[in-house]
Amino acid sequence: MCGILGICGSADVAHDLAFGLTALQHRGQDAAGAVTFDGTFHMHKGCGLVGQVLREGELARLGGSSGIGHVRYATMGTTDVLDSQPVALNYPFGLAMAHNGNVINFGELRTSLCEDHHRLIDTSNDVALILYSFAAELETKNLNALSVSDVFDTVEATQRRVRGAYSAIALIANHGFLAFTDPYGFRPLVMGRRASHDGICYALASETTCLDSLGYESLGDLAPGEAVFIDRDLEIHRRIGYQSGRAFCVFEYIYFAREDSIIHGRLVANERVRMGRVLAGTFRKTGLRPEIVIDVPSSAYFFASGLAEALDIPYRRGLAKNHHIGRSFIAPSQAQRERLVRQKLNPIRDVVCGRRIAVVDDSIVRGTTSKRLVDLLRAAGAAEIYVVSASPPVRYPCIYGIDMSSPRELIADRYEPDEIARWIGADAVVYQRLDDLVGLYEDLPCCFACFSGEYPGGVAPGLLEEIEREKTGSGRA
Ligand code: AMP
Repeated sequence: MCGILGICGSADVAHDLAFGLTALQHRGQDAAGAVTFDGTFHMHKGCGLVGQVLREGELARLGGSSGIGHVRYATMGTTDVLDSQPVALNYPFGLAMAHNGNVINFGELRTSLCEDHHRLIDTSNDVALILYSFAAELETKNLNALSVSDVFDTVEATQRRVRGAYSAIALIANHGFLAFTDPYGFRPLVMGRRASHDGICYALASETTCLDSLGYESLGDLAPGEAVFIDRDLEIHRRIGYQSGRAFCVFEYIYFAREDSIIHGRLVANERVRMGRVLAGTFRKTGLRPEIVIDVPSSAYFFASGLAEALDIPYRRGLAKNHHIGRSFIAPSQAQRERLVRQKLNPIRDVVCGRRIAVVDDSIVRGTTSKRLVDLLRAAGAAEIYVVSASPPVRYPCIYGIDMSSPRELIADRYEPDEIARWIGADAVVYQRLDDLVGLYEDLPCCFACFSGEYPGGVAPGLLEEIEREKTGSGRA
């Protein structure tokens, strides 16, 4: 998973990019990068947080009034600056691109780009496949008089070639700024506008939280398959290209997006409260009688408060979180993951001691977090521990850009809730029901593939295995 931000028309694009990307830092902490344009491209990227990579000295070198930036979340615990974004090309025009998502027909694209277009792809990063495919289509246009329609036709042809999830932003040197989404609109992309004494500027970002931090008003989300082109006079052109339906990733609402973001008109925090409330129905049927509801900070707070409200029992903060510890989820070994959970979370003793507790997390993937937490809560004197997952059992790998770890590690794929409860040492494990979750999104078709195994558009035989091999081999983002 990654975060992207593109800006055009800003007097200080480098600082705006660095500032705005910091508000997207939750979407990727492994690498950051930016490219700006002032007649030529200026690029800087590296491993680490935005503040560590885009430092003052570097920002001074990123001249121009338009640019794109990226924060990267590498899967499989590997990071390589070669795989960070944006990436740039110099033919048929100077082109720079960044994206969020995951391309699934990488094998076919690599072969075709190499054999039909004589392009050597020297990175395992998906964005190169999108960019080279885009460039190959663009080459067929009248390069001396490239029109807006040519740009949109190129996007549409790219959308037909490249399968998977992608929200992409690009600079086309001397022509303008481009953004587009895949035909299903899996990943979020929102447009914003800021009017100041310097004039009007526009931004396209993964989340509204980023627009808020930069003082942009939101102009709404891009539709599936939509492209926005902002020309050199800052005139906006929009077109729906190749659209297959809508399948917005529900895990964005569950975990990935920040709680203050608004995606498709829905505040993420409210979505989590709704999920918590509906979970109460399932919880009641278990006959369990917790005295308090606590959350696994920070992403589970709103589920927990929705659940507590609906069950009419108090919510308490029962776990303190150390905010200075990195992500435990993708640490390379199980032992490291377990140690990180212990370093990151500590029970608040008097809150939990002697009580029957419902502890809510957004999801149970391998079960590492829950197992450690149960140990910690028991040691702090909790009387009974019911582990509650705000999402349904994660049984299938995500092929659209969320790292769900290797399919064979997904605990819900192998065990029933009572077996999981025994394994993690809890008195019970309660999951959100998939039907209930789907019921919350009747008016916004979402992708639930990691819970249902139903991949929008289907998957060819062998594809899941091929993606797993590719991921394990290269650590793609
Ligand atoms: P696990 O410990 O393997 O069961 O993973 C569940 C925990 O990891 C939960 O606390 C989630 O907040 C977090 N989590 C779930 N999915 C992801 C993901 N794709 N990337 C990073 N963290 C995640």
